[in-house]
Amino acid sequence: MDRQQEFVLRTIEERDVRFVRLWFTDVVGSLKSVALAPAEVEGVFNEGLGFDGSSIEGLSRVFESDMLLKPDPSSFQILPWRGEEEPTSRMFCDILTPDQEPAAGDPRNVLRRQLDVAGEMGFTCYTHPEIEFYVLESQEMDQDGSPVPVDRAGYFDHVTGSVSQDFRRHTVNMLEAVGISVEFSHHEAGPGQNEIDLRYADALTTADNIMTFRTVIKEVAIMQGKYASFMPKPFTEHPGSGMHTHFGLFEGDTNAFFAPNTEYNLSTTARQFIAGVLRHAPEFTAITNQFVNSYKRLWGGGEAPSHVSWGHNNRSALVRVPLYKPTKGGSARVEFRGIDSGANPYLGYAAVLGAGLKGIREGYELVDPVGEDVWSLTTAERKALGIKPLPGTLHEALRQMEESELMAEILGEQVFENFLRNKQQEWDEYRVNVSPFETKRYLGLI
Ligand code: GLU
Ligand code: MG
Ligand code: MG
Repeated sequence: MDRQQEFVLRTIEERDVRFVRLWFTDVVGSLKSVALAPAEVEGVFNEGLGFDGSSIEGLSRVFESDMLLKPDPSSFQILPWRGEEEPTSRMFCDILTPDQEPAAGDPRNVLRRQLDVAGEMGFTCYTHPEIEFYVLESQEMDQDGSPVPVDRAGYFDHVTGSVSQDFRRHTVNMLEAVGISVEFSHHEAGPGQNEIDLRYADALTTADNIMTFRTVIKEVAIMQGKYASFMPKPFTEHPGSGMHTHFGLFEGDTNAFFAPNTEYNLSTTARQFIAGVLRHAPEFTAITNQFVNSYKRLWGGGEAPSHVSWGHNNRSALVRVPLYKPTKGGSARVEFRGIDSGANPYLGYAAVLGAGLKGIREGYELVDPVGEDVWSLTTAERKALGIKPLPGTLHEALRQMEESELMAEILGEQVFENFLRNKQQEWDEYRVNVSPFETKRYLGLI
């Protein structure tokens, strides 16, 4: 029993915690939870909790289905929204095989492995996500089949007494109560759309925080009689919900991306990292943008990227290097704008980081930044500048991913195959579906 485990057991006793939830994530990023009675926790620390891995999407095959949950005591947290009367808590878990080996199908393990690769190269990876989502009246649609947003406000609007404002205040308090620090929160461009930016943390903590964040947001919405959605593009006519993430690599206390008196104060390491992300982005778009619906966001509007480019202050870029004062070299970072709010954060971050590390390892050259608005260029102009498109559909993204040796290596054969199989099935279901768009357009016409 180590000190952190002892701390958890003591807290459970002192706070009279009634339920301890063990959390983990399946291959598409759905949160899974099992509740433990407090008396069981010590035994589970020692031996793990057995469960049927073959019933979890993408985790294991039927003939090797026994898996163990191993709670990570450093993630222990009392959950405030269940009320003080019967305190509930949670811990994130790593998934192990019966021989106590990390399970190949566990997304958290995929990210851990990539962080180890970074560690071997001397780097710690810090991340800071900007999470966008819509707050809706309910899960129901209006007569036109459209969701109903809670307000009509726009970017940075301050609406006195608005639902969104109240909602953000409650959420931020709740997040702070579960130990997640919020840096900014504001209304986004779409009606009912909000953004909350979490403070820098190491990438594994950030991914755990994102899973908690989604649950908190949904809980607060329900408490207010509303519904929150992380769907990448719920409205045709309004912007989608991105999860732009800032990545930084540190060598000890030194920011490895910062080099004063160079172009944009970017070190060679940073340039190679960006080059790696750009070169491999089409191969990992299926991971950072995993739904049929994700591609309705990435078409070239609503400030979402559609092409592979980087820039300094250019919001059409896939990778943006934000402005920072040279005196604040420690904050040098790159913003990846492709990933959406529906992504599995463990797999998405492993893919982006792994691509960047590959760029560093192999010394990739970075192309020139694009100053122009990529959306307004013609196809010929983009071709002349060497700007390639991102995959336009889930189908195209899957075709590029299945050819990628790098993604097979980063995800591991099992997650790679399970992910592709799951998503191919989603695409197959979509392609045979006749949508309202088609009946409206063609029925009377032809
Ligand atoms: N909502 C936009 C997106 O889908 C991003 C807007 C912004 O720049 O924050 O990526
Ligand atoms: Mg935003
Ligand atoms: Mg941003």
